[in-house]
Amino acid sequence: MNFHQYYPVDVVNGPGTRCTLFVAGCVHECPGCYNKSTWRLNSGMPFTQEMEDQIIADLNDTRIPRQGLSLSGGDPLHPQNVPFILKLVQRVRAECEGKDIWVWTGYKLDELNDAQREVVDLINVLIDGKFVQDLKDPMLIWRGSANQVIHKLR
Ligand code: SF4
Repeated sequence: MNFHQYYPVDVVNGPGTRCTLFVAGCVHECPGCYNKSTWRLNSGMPFTQEMEDQIIADLNDTRIPRQGLSLSGGDPLHPQNVPFILKLVQRVRAECEGKDIWVWTGYKLDELNDAQREVVDLINVLIDGKFVQDLKDPMLIWRGSANQVIHKLR
C-alpha cells in the first residue's frame, strides 16, 4: 500500500484531535473529486512498517491526546489496500485502548465484500458512497455530498 499524507495531529478530518492517513488508490473516479492525485495505487510513498509503528505511537502519545484515527484517501477499502488497513486497525484495537477509528470510502456499506467487511467490523464510523457533484453541500459535516452516509457502527 502507498500513502499520500500523514497528519500526526489533525483537527479537520473527524471529531476531536486525531491522527489522519490519506492512502493511495481509488477506482471510483467521481467527477469533481477533491483528491485526484491519489487515484493511482502506485502514487505517493510506500506505507512502511515504520509508518505503521509511528501511527500506533502517536495514538498512544499522552502529551497530545488523540481521540482516534481517521483513514481516507484515495480509498482505504480499495481491495489492494484492505490487507494493510486491516492490520493497522487490528493493531489500533489491540494496542490503543479507547481510540476510535473513522474510515471514508467510495463503496457503499451494503456492497462491501467479506475482506472489506472484516475492516468495517473493527471501526467506529464509516462514511460511505461516491462523491456526487450535484449533491455537493458545503454545509455538510464530515462528508462532501448529500448521498454519502455517516454510519455509526459501534
Ligand atoms: S471515492 Fe473519494 S477519492 Fe475516490 S474518486 Fe470519489 S471523491 Fe475521489
